[in-house]
Amino acid sequence: MTEAAIDFFAIHTQTQRLRTRLDSAMARVLDHAQFIMGPEVAELEARLAAYCGARHCVTCSDGTTALTMALMAWSIGPGDAVFVPSFTFVATAEAPALLGATPVFVDVRADTFTLDSDSLEAAVATAQAAGLRPAAVIPVDLYGHPVDRPAIDAVARRHGLRVLNDAAQAFGASLAGVRVGAWSDATAVSFFPSKPLGCLGDGGAVFTDDDATAAALRSIRMHGKRSDKYDNVRLGLNARLDTVQAAVLLEKLAVFDDELARRRAVAARYTTALEGVVTTPSVAPDAAPAWALYTVQAANRAAVEAACAAAGVPTRVYYPTPLHRQPGYEKAPRPAAGCPVAEDLARHALSLPMHPYLEDAQVDRIAAAVRAASGA
Ligand SMILES: *Cc1c(COP(=O)(O)O)cnc(C)c1O
Repeated sequence: MTEAAIDFFAIHTQTQRLRTRLDSAMARVLDHAQFIMGPEVAELEARLAAYCGARHCVTCSDGTTALTMALMAWSIGPGDAVFVPSFTFVATAEAPALLGATPVFVDVRADTFTLDSDSLEAAVATAQAAGLRPAAVIPVDLYGHPVDRPAIDAVARRHGLRVLNDAAQAFGASLAGVRVGAWSDATAVSFFPSKPLGCLGDGGAVFTDDDATAAALRSIRMHGKRSDKYDNVRLGLNARLDTVQAAVLLEKLAVFDDELARRRAVAARYTTALEGVVTTPSVAPDAAPAWALYTVQAANRAAVEAACAAAGVPTRVYYPTPLHRQPGYEKAPRPAAGCPVAEDLARHALSLPMHPYLEDAQVDRIAAAVRAASGA
């Protein structure tokens, strides 16, 4: 018997597990036909806010728009510096750039891959020297590991920065027992299918405890409405979450804790098998990651990639180019010392298959392929 193929994300497997429930959830929407802002949207927002321990959840069309809407709610625009890590998905820098603000790159920590507060302090000085007004910082819970919140908050307070947590990869993660979504001035998440909580297409949400921010977000996602969309009090967007996606997410949320526990078990098994073979991901003492990705660092990354491919194990590089090296962002300011950790990670980071449906034997098979390439 040949061994079963290993999926990187297993979206098909999860969809089939939930197939009957998803079919009925979608059928209910077809029956009531309230495709825009139907009852499932409000129900999902209440459930998500309760899950995270946030006062408000405002769903929207996708994670990139969630980031953009939060910055819009704070009137961030030209002349404003918005600090973003260089080692992240481009959306983190795209949101401020779309609003005419200046993304200013910041290096990341070598241990948890998340924003480095010392580099943030240096980047603030760079922005000030360039005549920009330090306005906000968007730390990213990369791969699902929560950011170093106390250190970042201290710098943010010192310079009056709003903190917008990009938790697109980290729904379900917590720090010191507090879930992502319940800290920061606002938190953006994505429901892209491969994220820890994914829908059947694009989706996103913003969490906040601030009533004024939440009210602005609800207005922005519907054309800057006041009472309705024909009464426009600010510049807005068409950025609602479809009712059918909300219905799907309610079903996915019902199994989310079960899936998260399995992701954590897979991560622990990987770490036991790979410690000393490659650099396994560090977890801060009070952090419980969501494990959107399990990312190792390998000095001989190309050899590990090749050995895994030969063994039928898919791997991916998140991210091959740090944003400060991307042609679209080459002119963006960065600290005088540059972003050397981001450059190093871009050369050595390698993500292994990660999803709740990986079996222990598959994890062992993946680890064996990595070990073989490392000569261990
Ligand atoms: C996926 C992702 C986003 C964007 O989410 P979309 O829903 O795809 O727009 C933003 N930031 C990070 C770090 C992401 O991984």
